[in-house]
Amino acid sequence: MADDRKLTAKGQTAGKALLRAIPKVDEVLAWLAGEKAPLLLVKGEVRRLLEEFRGRILAGEVVEPGELERESLLPLLRERIGRRLRNNFRPVINATGVVVHTNLGRSLLPAGAMAQLTAVAGSYSNLEFDLTTGKRGSRYSLVEELLCELTGAEAALVVNNNAAAVLLVLETLAAGREVIVSRGQLVEIGGSFRIPDVMARSGARLVEVGATNRTHLRDYQQAIGEQTALLLKVHTSNYRQIGFTSEVGAEELVALAADHGLPVMEDLGSGSLVDLSRFGLAKEPTVQEVLRAGVDVVTFSGDKLLGGPQAGLILGKREIVDRVKKNPLNRALRIDKFTLAALESVLRLYYDEERARVEIPTLRMLTTPTPEIRRRAQRLRRLLGQEAVEYYRIELLAIDSRVGGGALPEMALPSWAVALNPRTISLSRLERALRAATPPVIGRIENERFLLDLRTVADQELTALAGVLRDVLPKEEVL
Ligand SMILES: *Cc1c(COP(=O)(O)O)cnc(C)c1O
Repeated sequence: MADDRKLTAKGQTAGKALLRAIPKVDEVLAWLAGEKAPLLLVKGEVRRLLEEFRGRILAGEVVEPGELERESLLPLLRERIGRRLRNNFRPVINATGVVVHTNLGRSLLPAGAMAQLTAVAGSYSNLEFDLTTGKRGSRYSLVEELLCELTGAEAALVVNNNAAAVLLVLETLAAGREVIVSRGQLVEIGGSFRIPDVMARSGARLVEVGATNRTHLRDYQQAIGEQTALLLKVHTSNYRQIGFTSEVGAEELVALAADHGLPVMEDLGSGSLVDLSRFGLAKEPTVQEVLRAGVDVVTFSGDKLLGGPQAGLILGKREIVDRVKKNPLNRALRIDKFTLAALESVLRLYYDEERARVEIPTLRMLTTPTPEIRRRAQRLRRLLGQEAVEYYRIELLAIDSRVGGGALPEMALPSWAVALNPRTISLSRLERALRAATPPVIGRIENERFLLDLRTVADQELTALAGVLRDVLPKEEVL
C-alpha cells in the first residue's frame, strides 16, 4: 500500500512536469506561421493536439517528453492540417463488387449527365420559366413528357428520393384513411425507412393482411371496407421469401381494386426501365410492365437500377399524379435543379436501350461479361508489376459480385477479383491503409485475403488503383 502511494506521488510529479512541458498555443502557432492554411483551422488543430496530450498525461498514460518537442509536434500537426485541408467528401475506388452500393454513393452518372449538371450549375436556367410562352413554368414539366413516353404512364412527378415519393403519395391518397398491405411486404429498407413507420407519418392507417409468408386475394377482399383508401404493394427489395410463399400479382390486385373503385399503388424500390433478365439477371417486373398491369401509381428510386441521381419517381394515372402535385408537402420534398438536370440526361439515354446499357454505369457494370472482368483483373496484376510480388501474394480469383441497393437481393453475379495477401503487414492493417489512401480504396477481406472485385472498378481507375496498392505497402513493416 505504502509503495503504491509513493508510486502515485512520483507519477504525479512526473505528470506535473510533463504538463508544464506542453508548449503554449501561441508558441506552436509561431512555428506554423508559414503554413498555407486558414488560421482558424490551424488554431483548431493546435488546440486539439495539445489538449489530447494534456488528457493523456492526466489519465496517467505514458508520454515521452520528446513527444512534446517541436521536432515531434510539427510533422504531426502538418499531417493533420493537410488532412483538414482536403474535402471530407471525395471520390473512392469501389472494389467491393457491389454495384449499387448504398454507402458508396449508389449510382454513378454517365458522362453526359455530368456535363449537363455542370452546365446548369454555373449558369441561370429555365428551371421554372417556360421559354415558349415567356411565362412562369414548372420544374416538373421538364421531365414529365419524357417519363411518360418511356414508360406509358399518363403523368409523372419527381421528388427528392423514393422515401419522399412513398410518403407523399400515401399522404395525398390516404391520410386519415386505411391502406391495405400484405404482411409479407411490411419491410424495412436500410434502417430508417420502414413501411409501417412511413405509413404512420403519412397519417394513413395500416391494415395488414395475410400471413408473413402467404397472402391471398381473399385476404385483401375481406379487409376492404368503408375506410379503405388504397391497396399498396411493396417490393421486398433487400430480402426475399423462399419456400411455401405466395403473394398477389399486380393484375389481380388491380381487378379487385377496380371492383371497389379503389386505386392500387406499387412501391417498386429499385424500378428498372430495362428488363435485365435479358442479360442473365433475375426477372423483375419493369416499371412499364407494372403500369401496363393497371397499377394506378408507381414509385421508385432514381439512383438504384435506373442509374441516375438520387430522386423519387412517381408515375401513374393523371388524376392521381395531379393530386400529388398539388399536395403542399410536395414543396418540402421537391427535387433540386442539379438532380433534375442529371435525371433528364439519364432518362434521354433510355430512348435507345442498348445505348442506356452501355453508357449508364450502373447498367454497364451489371451487364459486363465475366471474361471482360477477368481481363481487367489481369491488367491490374500486370500494372502492379514485379515489385509488388515482393510484398504481396497475388492471385486472380473467380468470385461473386452483388447488385446491391436493395435490388435483386440473392442474385450473385459471376466476377473476378485480384486477391492480395500482404507479406509484411496484417490484412486489417492493409484494409485500413487502403481506406486512408488517396484515392481511398474499398474492398473486402474474405478467407484470409484482401479481395478487389473488378466489376465495379472502371478501366480508367486501374492505374490509380495499382499506384495505391504499390504505395501503401513497402512503408509498413510491422506484422
Ligand atoms: C430503396 C427503397 C425505398 C427508399 O428509396 P430511397 O430512394 O432510398 O429513398 C423505398 N422503398 C423500397 C421498396 C426501396 O427498395
